[in-house]
Amino acid sequence: KPSIGVLALQGDVREHVSALEQSGARAVPVRRPAELEAVDGLVLPGGESTTIDKLLRIFELRDLLVERIGQGLPVYGSCAGMILLADRVIDGSHDQQTVGGIEMTVRRNAFGRQVDSFETNLEMAGIAGGALPATFIRAPWVEEVGTGVEILARVPDGRDDAAAGRIVAVRQGALLATSFHPEITGDARVHELFVTIVKE
Ligand code: GLN
Repeated sequence: KPSIGVLALQGDVREHVSALEQSGARAVPVRRPAELEAVDGLVLPGGESTTIDKLLRIFELRDLLVERIGQGLPVYGSCAGMILLADRVIDGSHDQQTVGGIEMTVRRNAFGRQVDSFETNLEMAGIAGGALPATFIRAPWVEEVGTGVEILARVPDGRDDAAAGRIVAVRQGALLATSFHPEITGDARVHELFVTIVKE
């Protein structure tokens, strides 16, 4: 079984731990450098990207995480975690930094006030078995991607607002990111995909 860490500084850690366990991984909360050194993959949960950014420095995990990503550590970021994996952020707080790794620009809190939280069903490349339930909570969307980035899902059409067609799931090598939270739907297929990436 691969050992997959869940960054446990802030955010919905427990839900990711159980989705990973359900997907055939051993899930371990990560708060210390030694724990980060030991895992085969890492999940960056949703929460508040500015807070997680600050805590990563305080807990002396940031530089190590950047280094491990550079060495090919598989990482899956959901929502705030997607923001942390982005090379660039629009509408971040003024001193907000990311860990980076995926050649993309994300727009933080991108969905408008009326729909800042919503659920929908998405077709996602790499996920078999039909549409995936997806919960968006003050979520970012992906504004643009570099050539190395694979687009896995977009907001379905049929919405008459600026959200229709926006990119909400991407992959670049061993890095996976979704705007939405699959860990709270009871459908573990995104976590299964990540476990497969870790095993590769
Ligand atoms: N809006 C949050 C941020 O900017 C993300 C919200 C979430 O992770 N559910 O970090």
